[in-house]
Amino acid sequence: MSYPDTRLFIDGQWQDAKGGRTLAVHNPATGGEIGRVAHASIADLDRALVAAQKGFEAWRAMAAVERARIMRRAAALMRERADAIGQLMTQEQGKPLIEARGEAAAAADIIEWFADEGQRVYGRIVPARNPAVQQLVLKDPVGVVAAFTPWNFPINQVVRKLGAALAAGCSVIVKAPEETPASPAELVRAFADAGVPAGVVNLVYGTPAEISGYLIPHPIVKKVTFTGSTFVGKQLAALAGQHMKRVTMELGGHAPVIVCEDADVQLAVKATASAKFRNAGQVCIAPTRFLVHESVRSEFVAALTRHAEGLKVGDGLQDGTRMGPLANARRVAAMKDFLGDACQQGARVTTGGEAMAGAGNFFAPTVLDDVPLSARIFNEEPFGPVAAVRGFTNLQDAIAEANRLPYGLAAYAFTRSLKNTHQLAQQVEVGMLWVNQPATPSAELPFGGLKDSGYGSEGGPEAVEACLNTRAISITPL
Ligand code: NAD
Repeated sequence: MSYPDTRLFIDGQWQDAKGGRTLAVHNPATGGEIGRVAHASIADLDRALVAAQKGFEAWRAMAAVERARIMRRAAALMRERADAIGQLMTQEQGKPLIEARGEAAAAADIIEWFADEGQRVYGRIVPARNPAVQQLVLKDPVGVVAAFTPWNFPINQVVRKLGAALAAGCSVIVKAPEETPASPAELVRAFADAGVPAGVVNLVYGTPAEISGYLIPHPIVKKVTFTGSTFVGKQLAALAGQHMKRVTMELGGHAPVIVCEDADVQLAVKATASAKFRNAGQVCIAPTRFLVHESVRSEFVAALTRHAEGLKVGDGLQDGTRMGPLANARRVAAMKDFLGDACQQGARVTTGGEAMAGAGNFFAPTVLDDVPLSARIFNEEPFGPVAAVRGFTNLQDAIAEANRLPYGLAAYAFTRSLKNTHQLAQQVEVGMLWVNQPATPSAELPFGGLKDSGYGSEGGPEAVEACLNTRAISITPL
């Protein structure tokens, strides 16, 4: 598939923005412009709102089993088209083709799981204190959902939100990322081709703050869901709060990796090294703060360094590429700043440490050891291919360090001890903890954070529940 220009999808029609405004899309591996994306005006948003309200009324009136059939058809189309969609994603986002195809194919699994879950939205009959009275608990779709998604997983971030909302019977306006517009548009196309009624799924691009500033307060929108930085998430949650809108926030993280004295060190490296450099580190659950027991630290750092040195970095479309460019030039500048600060404070670079020469946003896979707690990289989400390591001698200190930051999204731990495992499970303040394994997020498990990493969940029954109203009805028959 050659790289297309991306249009808006409103009321079942692909269309240019009113006024014809567009934005450039660049390939991060070359820096070159590869296409354009339509930039919605307020008039386009107004049409999307009216369409979404109409779509909501049609979709909620459809039997859950019929909604599930349509969703399953969309899943099948995603599976069929995953190779072609992966090509688009690699061109606009940079990740290696194998990761991009995998993301498109994984969307099918997510849609199927939500299609099934949508058929299990039940109410309750609650015995009344007065036996003559019947008490019902009803679950209804909340209404039109406004979803804001980022560029690091252009399809996955959308499909989690779409899957949950559609399963609950809601319609959606997606504001997908302007930097990576074509692959999420293909996800929306799969739903359209599968027979989702006009207005149920709408897709817009434009100026993010303008779109969120218009949609969130709008009375047609009943729920807001956002993935992105904590900084922006707090602004959107505050705006949603002013207008009493339901909110799911999936924000930044700074995942600690606690490698205990009794860990299988090779397993710890194997499980976290690929994850560290996957998508060039631009992953909210990426392992980022490596806390390694002093007795195994040199072995761990040596193995992590060998892994990083063995990665073939390049254009994601080329065979054998294991790590692509960063998605935009802002991230390269951010990595340089993190490195400069950490080294100035005494951290030691064991491999990498600099931007790579030539075109594109390439930064070498980097391992930093002896990183002081005061270094910025140990405090701010790196969102790039830099692993920061420091040692510990006492597990309680490592847990305290894991909990020191306001983030609470994901954590990893490696230990053979049941006692340590229990302590970690009880005390590490995160929404997701993986012990002796890589991250394995799936549609059926809750996905979300604590503290400044947000609230709500984008997986499991909780994700559907977040798109439902709960109502109590008491009936006294006459
Ligand atoms: P950013 O905060 O400017 O943007 C992040 C995403 O939010 C983008 O998709 C952007 O379009 C969107 N956004 C920004 N302002 C918005 C607004 N007012 N209304 C609606 N959407 C808005 O940051 P960035 O430079 O694109 O990325 C840098 C940081 O963002 C990273 O360091 C990381 O912390 C965070 N981020 C997190 C995730 C995640 O999966 N949680 C994904 C992408 C970026």
